[in-house]
Amino acid sequence: MAVRYQSLRGFSDLLPGETELWQAFETRARRALARYGFREIRPPHLEKTELFTRSVGEGTDIVGKEMFTFEVSGDSVSLRPELTAQVCRAYIEHGLDRRGLGRLYYVGPAFRKERPQKGRLRQFHQVGVEVFGESAPETDVEVIAVALETVAAAGVEQPRLLLNSIGDPESRTAYKRILVAALESVRAQLCADCRTRLERNPLRVLDCKVDHCRTLTADAPRIDEHLSDDARRHFDAVRAGLDRLGIAYQVDPRLVRGLDYYVHTTFEIQAEGLGSQNTVLGGGRYDGLVAQLGGRQVPGIGWAAGIERLLMAAGVDTAESREVLDLYLVTLGPRAREGALELAQKLRAEDLRVGWDTAGHGLGGQMKRAGRSGARYAVLVGDDELERGLVSVKDLSSGEQSEAPLEPGELAVWLRRRSEEQC
Ligand code: ATP
Ligand code: MG
Repeated sequence: MAVRYQSLRGFSDLLPGETELWQAFETRARRALARYGFREIRPPHLEKTELFTRSVGEGTDIVGKEMFTFEVSGDSVSLRPELTAQVCRAYIEHGLDRRGLGRLYYVGPAFRKERPQKGRLRQFHQVGVEVFGESAPETDVEVIAVALETVAAAGVEQPRLLLNSIGDPESRTAYKRILVAALESVRAQLCADCRTRLERNPLRVLDCKVDHCRTLTADAPRIDEHLSDDARRHFDAVRAGLDRLGIAYQVDPRLVRGLDYYVHTTFEIQAEGLGSQNTVLGGGRYDGLVAQLGGRQVPGIGWAAGIERLLMAAGVDTAESREVLDLYLVTLGPRAREGALELAQKLRAEDLRVGWDTAGHGLGGQMKRAGRSGARYAVLVGDDELERGLVSVKDLSSGEQSEAPLEPGELAVWLRRRSEEQC
C-alpha cells in the first residue's frame, strides 16, 4: 500500500493564503522596528546545547524538558528553543558593540518539545528584539512601546500590558529567602514541579500554571514590596515613562517569567480569545547575560512574540482571495500557441505577473484556468490578432472586453493605466 506522509505533530505547513498574511504582518512589523533603529539579525537554527543551559537555565522548563537535543561530531547540539542566547552569542562573537549594533531584531522559527495544542506548537515562529548597552529606564519604555506596535501590526485589538520588576540580584536574593519562608507551611500541598522549584528557583513557583498552586500562593509576599532603592527607582522611572507616552499597563507582582536571566523590568502582552495560551509576547531586562556568556558587562533588554499566537489573536486565518496574477495568457490557433512561451517571458520582463496554460487546452479549458488562476485580466491572442498587432483583454471580474496593443511594453502600459482608472 502506498504510504501517505503527514507532517509531524506540532510542526505545520504554512500554505499560500497564509503566507501572504504572514508577509504582510512581517512587513508592517519590520517598519515599526526600523522606526526605533532596530536592524535584523538571522542566527542559525542549531547551537551548542551549552549556550542554552548556561543562559536560559538548567532548572527551566525550556532547558529541562523542551529542547530537541542530539549529538553532532561528539558535540551536544540543540535546535534553538529561543533566540536571546544566540543573539548575545553573536553580539559577543562579532564584536557588534564596536560596530554600534546595539539594537537588533529577529524573525524566525524556534523549537520546543511541548505537548502540541492550540497555540502551542513544536516549531513556532518568533519575532523579537534585543537591546545591548542601554541601561536607562527610557530604553525599557521604548522596548515596550515597540512591542505594542508589533502586536498592533498583527491586528490584535485591545492587548493587555502586564508589568513587573523582579529587582536587581540583591533584592532578588533577599526576596527569595522571604518567599521560601512564607511558603514553608504550604510546601507539602504544592505540585511536584513547584516543590522542586522551591529548592532550585523559588521565584518560579509564582509562574506555575496549576490553579491549586496559584490559590496556595495567592497571598505570598510581593516582590515589588521588597525592591532595593535602586531597583525601585528604575521601576518608578519606567512607569513614569509609560505614563508620559499614554501607554496603559497593569502591574502584576506575579510576573516573574520562566527564564533565569531576567532582572528589573519584566513584561508580557496578553490578547483576548486565546484561552490559556493568551500570552502573545514576553520580555524583560537581562543585564548580566552578556557577561555570563563570556562578554563584557553589558546591559540588555528584549522581548519575543509568537507569530502564530499573534495572528490567531487577530482572528484572521487566511488572506481573503486576492489577485495573484496580473494576466492569464489565452491563445487561439497554432501560431499564437507557439508564441506563448516567449510572449509570457517578455511580459514578465515588463514586471507583470503572468500565467498561461502550458498544457495547451482548448479555448474553454484555458478560460476556465484563467478564472481559477487569480488573474485580473485574461489576455486573448489569436492568429488574426497577431496579424493586426492586437490582443483582446477581458477583465475577469467585470467581464468587460477591449482591444489593446500586442507589443509587450505597450501592453504593460495599457494594463497599468487601465488598472489605475479602475481603482
Ligand atoms: P508559555 O507560558 O505560553 O509556555 P513561554 O513563557 O514559554 O510561554 P516565551 O519563552 O516567553 O514563552 O516565548 C515568547 C512567546 O513565544 C510566547 O509569549 C508565545 O507567544 C510564543 N511561544 C512560546 N512557546 C510557544 C509554543 N510552543 N508554540 C507557539 N508559541 C509559543
Ligand atoms: Mg513555555
